[in-house]
Amino acid sequence: MEQQEGVWSYSAVLMGSPVQLKLFRHDPSLAARTFRLIKRYEDLFTVNRTPSQVMDINLAAGQHPVVVSRPVYELIACAKAASLVRGGCFNLAIGPLVKRWRIGFRHDNAVPPADELAALLALTDPQNVLLDEAAGSVYLALPGMEIDLGAIAKGYIADRVRDFLGREGVTQALINLGGNVHTLGAPQGGWGIGLKKPFSAADALVGVIDVEDKSVVTSGTYERFFEVDGKRYHHILNPATGYPLDNELDSVTVISTDSLDGDIWTTLLYGMGVEQGCQALRQKPEIEAIFITKDRRVVASSTRNVRFTLMDDSYTFTD
Ligand code: ADP
Ligand code: MG
Ligand code: MG
Repeated sequence: MEQQEGVWSYSAVLMGSPVQLKLFRHDPSLAARTFRLIKRYEDLFTVNRTPSQVMDINLAAGQHPVVVSRPVYELIACAKAASLVRGGCFNLAIGPLVKRWRIGFRHDNAVPPADELAALLALTDPQNVLLDEAAGSVYLALPGMEIDLGAIAKGYIADRVRDFLGREGVTQALINLGGNVHTLGAPQGGWGIGLKKPFSAADALVGVIDVEDKSVVTSGTYERFFEVDGKRYHHILNPATGYPLDNELDSVTVISTDSLDGDIWTTLLYGMGVEQGCQALRQKPEIEAIFITKDRRVVASSTRNVRFTLMDDSYTFTD
């Protein structure tokens, strides 16, 4: 616990990252209950260890449907819908490829052979994730298929934390799940959320985003990657090729009411790139994005609704 000017910060390590909760009152019991809530959801969704309900689904692939709890069913239904968005690159059935690449988990990273990746691609069709609403069950039609909710579990959980804190009567708080920041209300002057500088020290910022009552999600290729022969391989995979997405982006940040939308849209926009992404967001006034490109441009989907202050003059800011 850390206290600064009326703000109390509580931290824990959950979902493989440091998690931070900021409250405007001294309430270690509330912080402990918040962290327990996160842990409960982590145990439902993880694909990195058993037991978890998502692991149960994966282990029964090609054999039988698995009845799951409501949150798991809902998140998978939502992830399947996102996987069918045309032009996006979100795919909940990407699991076999994620496991094969193991980016960020191994120290002896190597590029998998092309024929292996091609074989695994055949196991990633989201249409083969079969949902039975009445039974509340999920069935993976082919043996070897694996669901991976790594791109959206944090968003779903951040929303549940927001709801929980709201029910507890909290009007101002910030939860940082590592990549997903969610806020309730705002202190005087707004929450200044730092936008990380890609491939730099952890505390280096390109600028600050001011939000109130919003989620801010950043997905960056600098978070987990490895290099072979000067080429960088990061952890967001292109479901069409089986290789990491290769485009002009270093990171995508989404500002939205729900963190789940932030998670879905960071991944979709990663696949779309700046131009197509901004065009897609014109139909979505409730969702805004900030792209950071490899050639050091910071591009906002709208400067009317995005309050961004550039702090690093080696970047240029445009909309
Ligand atoms: P972080 O883990 O840093 O929050 P993201 O939110 O960007 O990162 O999600 C990346 C994770 O999502 C990967 O580690 C993997 O588990 C999963 N993933 C990778 N590629 C895709 C994809 N195309 N569609 C859906 N999930 C993906
Ligand atoms: Mg994430
Ligand atoms: Mg994401």
